[in-house]
Amino acid sequence: MVGPVFSVVLPIYNEQENLPELYRRLTDVMQGLAQPYELVFVDDGSRDDSVKMIKDLRAGDEAVKLVALSRNFGHQPAVSAGLALAAGQAVIVMDSDLQDSPDVIPMFVQKWREGYQVVYAIRQTRHEGMLKNFAYRLFYRILKHLSETEIPVDSGDFSLMDRRVVDLINRLPEKTRYIRGLRAWVGFKQTGVLVDRPSRHAGAPKYTLYRLILLALSGVISFSVIPLRFATGLGVLVSFLSFASIIVIVAIRLFTTLSIPGFAATASILLFLGGVQLLTVGILGEYVGRIFDEVKGRPLFIVSEALGLENDR
Ligand code: UDP
Ligand code: MG
Repeated sequence: MVGPVFSVVLPIYNEQENLPELYRRLTDVMQGLAQPYELVFVDDGSRDDSVKMIKDLRAGDEAVKLVALSRNFGHQPAVSAGLALAAGQAVIVMDSDLQDSPDVIPMFVQKWREGYQVVYAIRQTRHEGMLKNFAYRLFYRILKHLSETEIPVDSGDFSLMDRRVVDLINRLPEKTRYIRGLRAWVGFKQTGVLVDRPSRHAGAPKYTLYRLILLALSGVISFSVIPLRFATGLGVLVSFLSFASIIVIVAIRLFTTLSIPGFAATASILLFLGGVQLLTVGILGEYVGRIFDEVKGRPLFIVSEALGLENDR
């Protein structure tokens, strides 16, 4: 059997309201491309009817494949599972809530045919509410300045990757997967396509604010050691200031008759230093925690059921 040319990787966590519409629009677009394709649905431990719906779809359409994880592992591990099992020459990663429009795929494919190994969507507009929009834009710009790898701003995981790139990402041993960062790190010819990011078709966002913050943090920590340098810099600065103030205090004592009053001053200096120390220990802790995760070497996800995929695990 010849393998598919295109794979679409779709992480699913309680998306029963979106599945019918997603499947319909995706199938329209993929059939328009007139080449063999597969839709790799990765169920990330859904508690609703998502898995059953995917199985029903599979009964009527061989292109539908299912990877069910043994529990909810999170979005990035779910996408990683899809990337590991997808067989296509080009692999498209997209969200399953129709925030990533299937209509963009032909544009990705065209760029791929022109010879780009990675084509990613740049979110030109978002419909999330002002605060969230602002936070997203700010985060991507901060990351750009902190990261040693050039990670394009305003681009998420919605992208097409060539087989070569997917194989390379699959082979990376790291467990903290910030896929849009790893994708940029791999290199080759990459380009962006401007897209609109509509709001969710149905259902509530599955990323809580806390998990979004964790994702942002893992982006920074996995791609930058600048927070550690910031801790060092802070240490240097505070040491320098305290050294200067010692000189001033000694001089006042030796050359004047003034006495320096000051429980309040002492207390606030102590508190300030305590704060600085906790902050820097915290920064250090973020890195140590990640080292801990890496050395444990647990697999990134566990597959409980795979339907229609050749390299079943
Ligand atoms: N998702 C997942 N596991 C999770 C959380 C989310 O597989 O633990 C999937 C979800 O079903 C969706 C995609 O990841 O297809 C993006 O999630 P969501 O729409 O909640 O994120 P947002 O659009 O707010 O970034
Ligand atoms: Mg979404």
